[in-house]
Amino acid sequence: MNQLASLSSLAQKDIRHHLHPYTDARLHEQQGPLVIERGAGIYVYDDQGNEYIEAMSGLWSVALGFNNQRLIQAAERQLRSLPFYHLFSHKAHAPSIELAEKLIEMAPVPMSKVFFTNSGSEANDTVIKLIWYRNNALGLNQKKKFISRLNGYHGITLASASLTGLPANQRGFDVPLPGFVHVGCPHHYRHALPGETEEQFAGRLADELEQTILREGPETVAAFYAEPLMGAGGVIVPPRGYWERVQAVCRKHDVLVVVDEVICGFGRTGQMFGSQTFAIEPDVMVLSKQLSSSYQPIAALLINDSIYQPIADQSHSFGALGHGFTGGGHPVATAVALENLRIIEEQHLVEQAALMGQRLHAGLAGFSDHPLVGEVRGCGLIGAVELVADKASKAPFEAVGRLGRYLAGRTQQYGMINRNMGDALAFCPPLIVQAAEIDMILERFARALDDTERWFR
Ligand code: PLP
Repeated sequence: MNQLASLSSLAQKDIRHHLHPYTDARLHEQQGPLVIERGAGIYVYDDQGNEYIEAMSGLWSVALGFNNQRLIQAAERQLRSLPFYHLFSHKAHAPSIELAEKLIEMAPVPMSKVFFTNSGSEANDTVIKLIWYRNNALGLNQKKKFISRLNGYHGITLASASLTGLPANQRGFDVPLPGFVHVGCPHHYRHALPGETEEQFAGRLADELEQTILREGPETVAAFYAEPLMGAGGVIVPPRGYWERVQAVCRKHDVLVVVDEVICGFGRTGQMFGSQTFAIEPDVMVLSKQLSSSYQPIAALLINDSIYQPIADQSHSFGALGHGFTGGGHPVATAVALENLRIIEEQHLVEQAALMGQRLHAGLAGFSDHPLVGEVRGCGLIGAVELVADKASKAPFEAVGRLGRYLAGRTQQYGMINRNMGDALAFCPPLIVQAAEIDMILERFARALDDTERWFR
């Protein structure tokens, strides 16, 4: 039978009309979508009634699971009282004011102001523009370059895709733009020299950063941009001493530190912010995803006073800060985010994430001896298992990603949605996950991994 004819009419319509992000469009024409219809707790259900553990929290983001009634009620209340208003031209509304106050209170270092956007990518573009604007205001007209890392992920708009260091986001798109420079990925397992300790590796990366700043000219480098722990680039935990060393280099050369907490923020690494887990003192923090559990699109950036003051002066001399999004600080999104943060605090979900993270990592460590497993890594409630062709030499598979895709396909067969990043499989369950559910995640993974080995051999 023609494969398409077996698809639901909804799936057929999707093929006819929809261009999907992060999807092979031709393959999609043949196989169609997995249509997700509803969710409950850590589970989602497709339109055929199949249940899946959402072991990625959707896109690393649904901290409170898929049917939190308080979030739904917060959205409904706000829709009834004020469904939309903007923040342009001195306008404001209570949820955005209260959320800004809350985020400044929560920040692990003194921050001055919050700016809201609809997405992490927009937030990162905004950071770039605000730092350019600030440096122009200070007369630092050349200090405009951004240094980020290979494998880092900061989004897909023109400027944020230029920060991103993943080939898949740049190939075919004419990015990175000029002025965006990448340094090495802090993945000890893959990039350390033989015998190099984590501390030595961290030192070498800090030296590389310093050499890059000196090569480009410190007077041209505005900021170093990084995730505390790399998420989409493969769940890469930095080597011991990394953040201390790179921050010292940045301070020495008057380079701002921008921390992209879009995945790490709000408990993912076992503390409220990745900046706390890795002792980072950022000048700018970027937040999204678990900020609203993705029930509403929202991101926020926090800037310290050294960035705010020149921006305020410049906006005064120009008559306005000429930047803002129609939906930025949307009342429904900010109301949902406020309720989401209340729940995370009331239910001690950060501590819960740390505890469940320990259980997840203890379980994943048990796969280290599996013949296909090269590295098990992670921190808090985020982890990854990387498959390799040869354990001793760490040699990756020739067709990178083929086995990872197969493994993710098998976990889906067993009722669990994971994401493969090349040949690494990621785990990032909702913060509300319970011990028995962690055990189910491990059990489904074990079956999928064994299938993958049989298929491979
Ligand atoms: N920064 C990080 C660290 C991310 O993981 C992401 C998305 O995954 C982004 C930025 C981009 O966010 P968005 O997809 O909302 O544009």
